[in-house]
Amino acid sequence: MVTFEKIAGPKEGQPIQFVNGKFQIPDNPIIPFIEGDGTGRDIWRASQRVFDAAVHKVWGSKKKVCWFEVYAGEKAFNMFGEWLPADTTKAIDHFSVAIKGPLTTPVGGGIRSLNVTLRQVLDLYACVRPVRYFRGVPSPVKCPEKLNVVIYRENTEDVYAGIEFQEGTSDAKRLIEFIGKELGKTIRPDSGIGIKPISETGSKRIVRKALQYALDSGRKTVTMVHKGNIMKYTEGAFREWGYELAKQEFADSVITEDDLYSNYKGKLPDGKVVIRDRIADSMFQQVLLRPDEYDVLATPNLNGDYLSDACAAQVGGLGIAPGANISDRVGLFEATHGTAPKYADQDVINPGSVILSGVMMFDYIGWKDVGQAIIQGLERTIAQKRVTYDFHRLMEGATKLKTSEFAGAIIENM
Ligand code: NAD
Repeated sequence: MVTFEKIAGPKEGQPIQFVNGKFQIPDNPIIPFIEGDGTGRDIWRASQRVFDAAVHKVWGSKKKVCWFEVYAGEKAFNMFGEWLPADTTKAIDHFSVAIKGPLTTPVGGGIRSLNVTLRQVLDLYACVRPVRYFRGVPSPVKCPEKLNVVIYRENTEDVYAGIEFQEGTSDAKRLIEFIGKELGKTIRPDSGIGIKPISETGSKRIVRKALQYALDSGRKTVTMVHKGNIMKYTEGAFREWGYELAKQEFADSVITEDDLYSNYKGKLPDGKVVIRDRIADSMFQQVLLRPDEYDVLATPNLNGDYLSDACAAQVGGLGIAPGANISDRVGLFEATHGTAPKYADQDVINPGSVILSGVMMFDYIGWKDVGQAIIQGLERTIAQKRVTYDFHRLMEGATKLKTSEFAGAIIENM
């Protein structure tokens, strides 16, 4: 059994194993969780109740999640003097599937963001954000139900690689000089510099994940969203590598948009997926004007960041938008919002983001009925207009529930 430096190991349950490229899920899987800072405490308490109730609803006493608390953020700092103890990343890596609430970004102390650090240390290269509408949620558009997309955002490179040089520093000056002298390109001397690396490896693995997801889940299209008309060797290359990968690895099951019209008269054969691409600026129009034509989106890091929040806002769901960060072997499911510290410990915050991240987690381990039970409970509760303060203030005739009461209503409605 795995051992830890500062925390005791889990008291019960079996680890999820990864054998020959496949997960083996025991009846009592150990799943590490990070409660999260600020409102994370209220949210986690409510979410865990919902998860346990859904598992019980579907499986009775046959199956059960054995939750294993691991620490990050303020709680870890108060207990161990560290924001992200090595035990935590070790546990997530070892047990393969974990879930977390929001974490405070420490100011100073050399950590840019705990979330970014977790993604980098565990090489969680795919940020997955499903965006769909729940009937009754207040939305700024006329037909929010037409948008139902899953965004696969590359998580490790692009301008997020953290290769930046501040204006006026000797590094920035040296770089500007080198680019001028050696490469013949002029940069204004008073510029800050950021580097945007996009690799074949990074591009192909995110497009591969998106295509595999589309095929496994019966989705019809994967659209690569890029700005390759301007940034030819980064975003343009992302697009080229995506098409190349589709041809190399998915020749039997994936066709291009050209193929669709020239060989299949525009009618997609069963079991096949179309790969295509759109320029990022046009994509922001498309998701507003023709949302039902989009399905799975594969993007470099920055485009995906912008697009996932824009899409989530369109369905009114920024406060209930779920997310996951995934590698080939590890899945870390997480709230997409922050710690909302002004509402901490008041039992008022909307726990929907972590609850729906849990749905993604149960789908990921193949417990799809559990995810369905939660979705049903949530849909009915929102349709009954029983909601937390954030939705309450935008809905007419709604009943305002506390975080804990909202969880209770979801459980009642399963
Ligand atoms: P935030 O998301 O915490 O809150 C902004 C506002 O959004 C809140 O004041 C609240 O009005 C609303 N809100 C957020 N989540 C909500 C929910 N579940 N229900 C209802 N309303 C909700 O963003 P912030 O204030 O910029 O960040 C606070 C802290 O969280 C910072 O330390 C930041 O670094 C961190 N953060 C963490 C994550 C993460 O862990 N994934 C993400 C973003 C920010």
